[in-house]
Amino acid sequence: MQAHFFIIVLCFATLTNATGLFEHKRGITDNIPSKDSVLYLTLDACDGRPNGYDVKLINFLRKERIKATLFLNYNWINANYEIARNLAKDPLFKIENHGAHHRPASITGKSAYGIKGASSKEGLLSDILPNQEKIFALTGYKPTWFRAGTANYEDKAMQEILALGLKIAGFAINADYGATASKKTIEKSVANARSGDIILAHMNRPESETAAGLMYSLLKMKKLGYKFEKLPD
Ligand SMILES: [Zn+2]
Repeated sequence: MQAHFFIIVLCFATLTNATGLFEHKRGITDNIPSKDSVLYLTLDACDGRPNGYDVKLINFLRKERIKATLFLNYNWINANYEIARNLAKDPLFKIENHGAHHRPASITGKSAYGIKGASSKEGLLSDILPNQEKIFALTGYKPTWFRAGTANYEDKAMQEILALGLKIAGFAINADYGATASKKTIEKSVANARSGDIILAHMNRPESETAAGLMYSLLKMKKLGYKFEKLPD
């Protein structure tokens, strides 16, 4: 009986982490299988530093014709409206939803990195829907991908997001650890990317080493034969 109980506890422990929030789980897309050598670069523009714009990184992507999916937060768009409009017009980029409140996806008030998620379904929706409208006004299309602030999801919140018809953008490669990583760390992380992987980095922290690390790493992956694509609809 005791052994049986132990096995149940063990199974449960492997399914959930200590906080009840997940970065990786069935329902969160980390990799899109492809027979070609394809990588999906995704750049978050977060609420944490809404007036930051890494122009060096974006100019590099334009020069090298590297496609990327940009996850823009509602407040970041407000603070950088002309830049956001300009990015939306560029066929190299696709704009997707990085939330209105920039917090973990929860309907029971769960926290990640000290940021408390919503305590109800309505609270969660208030994080998603206003930015769907904001991006529609900007681009003429409704986002099909959502990435919550902190990239953490509670199971019940995931079900609500998927029920809206949105896909949840995870990551296989955490390239810049919230724009805190050194150039060397970024290079090491991106070198681990394999075909179909979603790479996560940030575009709202120009003072970080993200641009320097990505400029080196993305060119290296290109030389190895990888092609960069935007996330599919
Ligand atoms: Zn963010």
